[in-house]
Amino acid sequence: MRITDNHGRLINYLRLAVTDRCNLRCFYCMPEEGIKYAPRKDLLSYEEMLRLIHLVAGMGIEKVRITGGEPFVRRDMMDFLRALSRVEGIRQVNITTNGTVTAPLIPELKQLGIKSVNLSLDTLDRQRFFEITRRDEFDNVMQTLDGLLAYGISTKINAVVMDGKNIDDIVPMVELAREKAVDVRFIEEMPFNGEGSHYARLNWDHRAILELIRRHFPTIEKIPDPPFSTSYNYQIPGFKGTVGIIAAYSRTFCGTCNRIRVTPQGMLKTCLYDDGIFNFRDLMRAGATDEQLQHALLQATHSRAKDGWEAERNRNFGLPVTESMSTIGG
Ligand code: SAM
Ligand code: SF4
Repeated sequence: MRITDNHGRLINYLRLAVTDRCNLRCFYCMPEEGIKYAPRKDLLSYEEMLRLIHLVAGMGIEKVRITGGEPFVRRDMMDFLRALSRVEGIRQVNITTNGTVTAPLIPELKQLGIKSVNLSLDTLDRQRFFEITRRDEFDNVMQTLDGLLAYGISTKINAVVMDGKNIDDIVPMVELAREKAVDVRFIEEMPFNGEGSHYARLNWDHRAILELIRRHFPTIEKIPDPPFSTSYNYQIPGFKGTVGIIAAYSRTFCGTCNRIRVTPQGMLKTCLYDDGIFNFRDLMRAGATDEQLQHALLQATHSRAKDGWEAERNRNFGLPVTESMSTIGG
């Protein structure tokens, strides 16, 4: 059984957010105060997550990304990863982390066969890191970066480009790829900040970001984008790593989207910009069989929005995006 949506796109990739909790407060993702975390009982349990993964593995999902919130603040996360690494059919498990508590876990991640980690880092300036994340964790994140590279785990750095906040950091972040074999990826800022505040237009879209980089690195050249890539990829001659730009707000990559998302509370999203199709947790706790869950998933993917613009227009009551990325998983 394979999952193909109503636009002929094959779905083989699940992004699972394992918690809505986080130990940072990145201002583009979460408000500083007044966060209402979901009650623990409302989160999917590890058993429910594993059931879900077994089920979708039987439907052709081969790749799972673990995200959050911060995955490693959930208790017993490594036990879960151990069980996940044994699920038949799942060929690749990747993780997105803020790197604050990850460094000591790297040897075991390597042992479990985790080949690729996305590390969020928006600046190389300690003070600005504090201003963006509202926490003093810069050194721990850098330790994680060095550890990942030392263990040969393929590392992508995710840097959100924020107008008026970290534009001066773009060039130093590109410089990181000169000596380190990392993919430094710049992400357009999206309105998922948990506060409902919206910018009228995005000043730093993928074109503006590339233009700035090209001005400083005129020899930069386009390289082929891997299948299903969400980033435009580039290399600069002589650099060990590469540079990517993700048009997350402009949504230029929807045509090849192969992914579905499940939130910490079990909501299925067939697009980052939709507001949820149905809740796996509720169906499971109401006693649904595996076949019923699979049927619900197939139905959802058969009426999938064409792209993120359509998904946003179809949101209930037409309300725009206000939720925090930590409740979706990015
Ligand atoms: N806590 C982990 C981390 O930060 O890597 C995983 C979850 S975080 C929500 C996943 C990704 O979403 C991060 O790379 C983060 O930079 C990105 N993100 C969060 N809010 C965003 C926003 N408003 N616009 C663009 N990217 C965002
Ligand atoms: Fe936490 Fe990641 Fe959101 Fe930052 S981006 S607040 S690290 S979930």
